[in-house]
Amino acid sequence: MDNILEIKNLTKVYNDAGGEIKVLDGVSLQVKKGKFIVFIGPSGSGKSTLLNIIGLLDKATSGEVFFEGKDILKLKEDKRAKLRLGKFGFVFQFDSLLPDFTVLENVNMPSLLKGKSNFERAKKLLAKFGIEALSDKMPPSISGGEKQRVAIARALMNSPKLLLADEPTGNLDNENSAEVMKLLKAMNEEYGITVLIVTHSDAVAEQARRVISIADGKITSDRRK
Ligand code: ADP
Ligand code: MG
Repeated sequence: MDNILEIKNLTKVYNDAGGEIKVLDGVSLQVKKGKFIVFIGPSGSGKSTLLNIIGLLDKATSGEVFFEGKDILKLKEDKRAKLRLGKFGFVFQFDSLLPDFTVLENVNMPSLLKGKSNFERAKKLLAKFGIEALSDKMPPSISGGEKQRVAIARALMNSPKLLLADEPTGNLDNENSAEVMKLLKAMNEEYGITVLIVTHSDAVAEQARRVISIADGKITSDRRK
């Protein structure tokens, strides 16, 4: 089974007063295990919707998403939650850390939710990213670049198979963007985690060997370097 992910004819349709809005319009693709892929497209093209459906944070209107060979859109909510917590890691554009918990507690949170609190691993991840000095700080007191590093550490806490990152550098300057991309790449190369990144930035897309363009809810090109 070397496709970790296979998407078949995925659609997402909203109905409003003006009629149907097709946010995803028949998206199909396959992703091999261990790949590092960037989805690029303009704002409103459906990128976040696609990533959220893959990550079981949003529901599709029709279509199938096979993860490790299983159609995960058919799973019941308890199984969906288990998959999100156990096999997926999420990194978002904006500050997603819990402001009333320390950096270390934030990183530990996924393992706590799993019922297996593991501060040792949380500390190791922070050390690996060179930010162990931030352990006891509260998220509102650290910089944007530091927050994203912490968010990536948190996403890795439960050793995910698939890392989903929605505009992970969208809020950062060039230097911090490069640093965050380096970390995501390292996670892909060192641990073999499959990484899907959504962006509208050419600089981010340049760093992936496979770049999938999306416009108006459709894949318009799928390039491999
Ligand atoms: P992107 O991440 O590429 O900017 P999104 O996936 O966030 O795009 O959104 C795709 C489109 O879906 C946008 O045009 C947006 O306005 C529309 N959309 C998102 N949520 C809703 C909703 N609840 N009702 C109607 N349209 C929506
Ligand atoms: Mg988006």
